[in-house]
Amino acid sequence: MKVGILPCQGACNVGMMTNKVALHFVDNKTVNMVCPLGLPLGIENIIKMAAANDKHIALNGCSVKCSSKSLEAAGFNEYEELALTEDFKIEKNKNFHDETNMDKIKEEVEAIIARLAAQERD
Ligand code: SF4
Repeated sequence: MKVGILPCQGACNVGMMTNKVALHFVDNKTVNMVCPLGLPLGIENIIKMAAANDKHIALNGCSVKCSSKSLEAAGFNEYEELALTEDFKIEKNKNFHDETNMDKIKEEVEAIIARLAAQERD
């Protein structure tokens, strides 16, 4: 099973955390980084790279959910999603070094990946 992970990489603490968490899991085999910016722009290669994954996880910094919207804009309508401000009660701020609750976010992403792998085996 291949999972594409899309960190929104927004210009705020929670946006930065999506990238830090994604990097913790990306191994370019089972878990692959997908660029959320390229999907709504219709960048062919990025859409192709996204489509090479069986499942996707949209890592959104906040409830605007840019990564989720990017997936949908490119026709990927089934995906897992997190919004860090909502799901982990983190306030959005401009401290790019803020890593509040990052361990909990990693635990949740790990659980999602394990669940997706188990679904694939069933
Ligand atoms: S989801 Fe929120 S934090 Fe992420 S890029 Fe969009 S507006 Fe910024």
